[in-house]
Amino acid sequence: MLNADKEGLISFIDGHASWFEEIADQIWEYAELSLKEHASAALYCEKLRELGFTVTEKLGGIDTAFCGSYGSGKPVIGILGEYDALSGLSQKAGACTHDPLVPGGSGQGCGHNLLGAGSLAAAAAVKAYLDKSGKPGTVIFFGCPGEEGGAGKAFLAREGLWKKLDAAISWHPGDANQVTTGSNTSSIQVLYKFSGVPAHAAGDPFNGRSALDAVELMNVGVQFLREHMTPDCRIHYAITDAGGVSPNVVQAKAAVLYMVRANKVAEAVKLLARVDDIAKGASLMTGTSYERVFIDGTAELVPNYTIEKALYANMRAIELPVYTQEDLALAEALKATYQSSGVDAIKGAREDAAIRKRCMELTDGGNKPINDFLAPMYSSETSSPGSTDVGDVSWLTPTSQIEATCWPAGVPGHSWQIVACGKSAMAHKGMLYAAKVLASTAIDLLTDEQLLTAAKAEFSERTASGYVCPIELDAVPTAI
Ligand SMILES: [Zn+2]
Ligand SMILES: [Zn+2]
Repeated sequence: MLNADKEGLISFIDGHASWFEEIADQIWEYAELSLKEHASAALYCEKLRELGFTVTEKLGGIDTAFCGSYGSGKPVIGILGEYDALSGLSQKAGACTHDPLVPGGSGQGCGHNLLGAGSLAAAAAVKAYLDKSGKPGTVIFFGCPGEEGGAGKAFLAREGLWKKLDAAISWHPGDANQVTTGSNTSSIQVLYKFSGVPAHAAGDPFNGRSALDAVELMNVGVQFLREHMTPDCRIHYAITDAGGVSPNVVQAKAAVLYMVRANKVAEAVKLLARVDDIAKGASLMTGTSYERVFIDGTAELVPNYTIEKALYANMRAIELPVYTQEDLALAEALKATYQSSGVDAIKGAREDAAIRKRCMELTDGGNKPINDFLAPMYSSETSSPGSTDVGDVSWLTPTSQIEATCWPAGVPGHSWQIVACGKSAMAHKGMLYAAKVLASTAIDLLTDEQLLTAAKAEFSERTASGYVCPIELDAVPTAI
């Protein structure tokens, strides 16, 4: 059952639905890459001021980070928003075959246009509640840049920013309605730029020192490291500069970008030190020098079952989106273009046989075009692949998230199909549903002292080992 305050915020969100949808659509149009989200950040700051929030720009010295604060005193509840896009994923809205809007351009392939606008809608609804009730408490909408690369929230964590919150909540668009639970992996990226001496590869190679050789030897060294790291660890790399396309030149410049992952951030930091040693070894072997450029890093998520339960209660109480024939037709058409992952995006269905069985029933055996139901409550500590800088927030304040259906069932992540339906009615409905759930949960956290106390006690227990910030002290946010 929803109380009058929650009924009020639902009416507020429904009453302003098109205003928030237009923001989401505009951010979809901007499709700005990580740490370059200037137009997106400017739009949010403008809208926050229009709503009556006090805006702080360039949060933590990051150009496209900002926050909008409203209210006074404690508790202080943070609502996280993102807005960055992905390169190479431009796609026409509503087009059900791969058809880039801008060939080679970027696109909202992770739905961050919806993520940011949905979180803003939640924050605006909480403000409306604070105005009406006259209750103490502060709501802060955080504009977090560079989720796909750059780890804005982790850089802000290095500054201790999240510590001032009593709790943080967020959401992510997905193909199912579920509480986000469990942990994920910590991930750190470092670019190694080798410099050698150029030479004619046939005439005087003995005078040359090859940076490309250094990159190759570094990669070989890391291949041998793989046997001697724990099974949760992953090391990925991309040669970002091979020096050139002429084999008859001793390449004087070459660079390789490494991504080191482990289930625990402290382990990822230690593994990175071993990769650093290999870079040093490759440089010694080849007589080259190298520059090490720290790019970004994220810690693993710390779950908070207490807030997860509160989120789920609101997900249950709030009416789920209802889909039209048009919504279903778009989802069907997109679903025909990919191999569906079935119910695997639902964590409970991956890990619990009974939940899997229930989800299979709810999806007509995985055949429904849209997952229009709420997945059963499920909390877990297991680590999923992938990383997010929400992890760094979760080490400094109790943090939980939900996922809301915005896309067709079983859609691949970071895909043109996600961009294609990023402005659809289906996506907007999921966004507004998420906003209502977040705002309702924020009200719970503002008014239910026992809930917040329990969330904090759980947080203290889970973070007793202390936060190891993966962002190095002298690092600056770097767009690759
Ligand atoms: Zn993503
Ligand atoms: Zn994302």
